[in-house]
Amino acid sequence: MTGAGLRIGVVGGSVAGCAMAIAGARAGAEVTVYERSDGALEDRGFGIVVPPPLHAELVAAGYLDSGMPTAPVPSRVWLTRDRGQRTERELARQDSAVTPCHWGLLWRTLRANAEGVTYHRGRPVTGVLAHPAGGAVIRTAESRERYDIVVGADGPRSVTRSALASGVRPVPAGYVVWRGTLPLDALAEHPRQLELVRTAWVTLGFRGGHGVFYLIPGAADGSRLLAYAIYGPPPPPSWAAGREEYVRHVAEEHFPAGWAEIVGRGAHTSLACHDVTDFHVPRVAEPPFLLAGDAASITRPHTASGATKALQDALCLERVLRTSSSAAQALHRYADERSGEGARLVALGRRLGHAMVERTPDWASMGPREVASWSRATLDGAGSYLYGSVQRE
Ligand SMILES: Cc1cc2nc3c(=O)[nH]c(=O)nc-3n(C[C@H](O)[C@H](O)[C@H](O)COP(=O)(O)OP(=O)(O)OC[C@H]3O[C@@H](n4cnc5c(N)ncnc54)[C@H](O)[C@@H]3O)c2cc1C
Repeated sequence: MTGAGLRIGVVGGSVAGCAMAIAGARAGAEVTVYERSDGALEDRGFGIVVPPPLHAELVAAGYLDSGMPTAPVPSRVWLTRDRGQRTERELARQDSAVTPCHWGLLWRTLRANAEGVTYHRGRPVTGVLAHPAGGAVIRTAESRERYDIVVGADGPRSVTRSALASGVRPVPAGYVVWRGTLPLDALAEHPRQLELVRTAWVTLGFRGGHGVFYLIPGAADGSRLLAYAIYGPPPPPSWAAGREEYVRHVAEEHFPAGWAEIVGRGAHTSLACHDVTDFHVPRVAEPPFLLAGDAASITRPHTASGATKALQDALCLERVLRTSSSAAQALHRYADERSGEGARLVALGRRLGHAMVERTPDWASMGPREVASWSRATLDGAGSYLYGSVQRE
């Protein structure tokens, strides 16, 4: 096993950082994580969807526990507002199994399973640099430590990325996404919507954007939250309230009445507005550096694949460490396997963003057949776990 005896330093201790730490530790390396934030990462309360086979693989491999709550559903329902009305119309229903998780619970599980890993909180990395005698040094205000491998899992503004691809920067898509969670009480007066999200995840199309809704586990045992991501144009300059608040206006303007009330009146447990961006690093490892998760690439979130890719990055790292004859060979193999996935997801995210935000179809005129053929045209041969049965037809 190559990992035995190696020292691995990981910059960033979020989803990618913890998963990469588990990978290194499982391959026998001594792993140290540097996380900038000294706050509680587990408080990030958003939803994260992963493909069910990946979830099962991570449980079997010991990255996740079978006891971590999830809220799996087998299908996807497409909705829109009836033309000229505030009523809701179901356009299509497809097999599309997903495993929704609570971001904080996912992070907590990964963190707990990073056994034997040294995890420094509140320790921002100020720089990484190759060491002339081999390996690389991680610099913080308090320390300079040398490692055989430095993993950059430090997100979109990665300091580690500058060692591999200094010119790569996130490219704005020109629209935004609101990401929120609501307690199930918000659905108390909406039994039809509640019934829908108990059995399916929902895509709600409107002119100039769409929203996705799904249940995730809450912090308390057995509880559920309604999670959403709503995509659309940013608030106009004349909008005086916070960017987050504009989502209520979008819902009121475009959603069927029931969904508008849920988003508009519900007391959110979390709500944020992000600019949608993307980028990918052409080659994600060059010894002694390696990038994972959002430090390596960001896809527009329509693919629901950023955390998914980070977790797959970790499974790949463990495998190449276990089966390579040197750290350098392991990193070259990682780069060979993982560089293409970032590029593929960026291209897919752009196609989905184009079709579902920038040039939305006339949703109200569509039915099951139109949704299926429009989806296949949008995918253009690319695979996505979100489009299960559509790809098989
Ligand atoms: C609206 C939306 C919906 C999404 N939905 C999904 C989904 O359903 N499924 C899915 O798979 N993905 C989804 N994603 C993507 C997913 O959230 C991200 O890809 C994933 O969380 C990235 O994790 P990460 O660990 O790479 O980055 P981050 O979570 O950004 O973590 C980077 C960490 O590095 C730390 N850090 C940064 N700089 C330094 C430094 N100098 N020193 C030390 N530490 C540092 C930060 O504090 C942070 O903790 C979604 C994204 C959005 C915006």
